[in-house]
Amino acid sequence: MKHYYVNTAPWVGENHEVHEEGCHKMPSQKRDLGLHYNCKTAVAKAQETYPDADGCYYCCEPCHRK
Ligand SMILES: [Zn+2]
Repeated sequence: MKHYYVNTAPWVGENHEVHEEGCHKMPSQKRDLGLHYNCKTAVAKAQETYPDADGCYYCCEPCHRK
């Protein structure tokens, strides 16, 4: 399993992106989403708080929509 985080302070117009531990785009302001088998469940957990949550293009490409 891998550790995932969600950006808690995205720029205006950007969505709350979910990152996998070790991603070079990891934001400094983030919330721990815990351990997940893949980005899909991590994004689903982030969406409980942030309905616009989406996977990072770099580390969660299969979950990246926009
Ligand atoms: Zn990332």
